[in-house]
Amino acid sequence: MSRFRSSRFAGLTAYVPGEQPRDRRYIKLNTNESPYPPPEGVLEAVAAAAKGLNLYCDPTALRLRESAAEVYGVTPEMVLPVNGSDEILNFAFMAFCDGNTPVAYPETSYGFYPVLADLHGIKKREIPLNEDFSIDPRDYFDLRCTVVIANPNAPTGIALGLDEVERIVASNTENVVIIDEAYVDFGAESAVGLTRRYDNLLVTRTFSKSHSLAGARLGFGIACPELIADLTAIKDSTNPYNVNAMTQMAGVAALRDNGYYMENCRRVAQTREDTLKSLRALGFEATASKSNFLFVRHPEISGGELYERLRERGILVRHFSKEPIADYNRITVGAPEEMEALIKAAGEILGRISLKHRSPRDSPEKGIRKQPQILRRKKEKKIQPG
Ligand SMILES: *Cc1c(COP(=O)(O)O)cnc(C)c1O
Repeated sequence: MSRFRSSRFAGLTAYVPGEQPRDRRYIKLNTNESPYPPPEGVLEAVAAAAKGLNLYCDPTALRLRESAAEVYGVTPEMVLPVNGSDEILNFAFMAFCDGNTPVAYPETSYGFYPVLADLHGIKKREIPLNEDFSIDPRDYFDLRCTVVIANPNAPTGIALGLDEVERIVASNTENVVIIDEAYVDFGAESAVGLTRRYDNLLVTRTFSKSHSLAGARLGFGIACPELIADLTAIKDSTNPYNVNAMTQMAGVAALRDNGYYMENCRRVAQTREDTLKSLRALGFEATASKSNFLFVRHPEISGGELYERLRERGILVRHFSKEPIADYNRITVGAPEEMEALIKAAGEILGRISLKHRSPRDSPEKGIRKQPQILRRKKEKKIQPG
């Protein structure tokens, strides 16, 4: 830190994105990108927009708002395009939280929520999940906070039903409820339709996961025109040209081809279920994920060790060392052949572990002590500080 940094930001803990290493080729299953490339139409739109890069882009992103409004069944005044949905979250924390209005969100969720709260000096109310990692909607009724819920949640993949989301929105009429739908296209119900009936609901979307545009940085806020006007005022006060010309046109082309992406999302959901079956056959336990990742643990190997062993084999997954999820790994659902490589590697890693338990140096009856050894390790893990 330099001696010039404002004391406001002295204690800043920045968000740590998933690693994007360049040292070798990895099978990347750690940041929930799409395994499928953008279609030709998107590439052509980007190339065409690149020819006009000497000029500023449209700060109102009108064509993109019109295209998005048509696909999502709202009006252009209800859409704000942003530079990745992290940006709309930032705008929303600025616009709808302050010293009197804290922010509430699930204790285990997207790591950017506490980072943004701290950045803006907003009080945090972190609500624990149920034991099975699900969200109890009743915990979010009448909170007198701005509420943020990822649906499906990250990194668990578990989704709330639309009726449950609506009850949360309806019980917090005096505050904004943000539903972060980064993963909704992989199998959950969207709350976008509710934005026409509730003036306190903001739905956020990203094209990073479902629409093969993580590198282009494109997301949307969808809400009633008044909320969008507030967010647009923040946008115009920080970066009026927040979505660049190429990304605006990529977005218009992508929305024109929305069917292609919905088909890809369906394929990813199918691969997710196939992979889940194979992992279960290896002894893995998993949450009921409705997103493009699986959230898994294995009773015979710690989360950290599985992460390391996969990495050695050129497969990157995401491990969070925080309790209560330190025993888990989040595995992006990639192409079927990538998942086959993952299953093969996991099988080898687990095979070695059970071999170790039966190593020739052990007495013959040691093999049958495998189970108690596992139990002991789990107990030891439990008393480790979080
Ligand atoms: C990935 C992700 C985002 C942000 O995505 P962008 O790439 O910034 O659009 C937001 N919320 C959740 C829950 C995510 O997983």
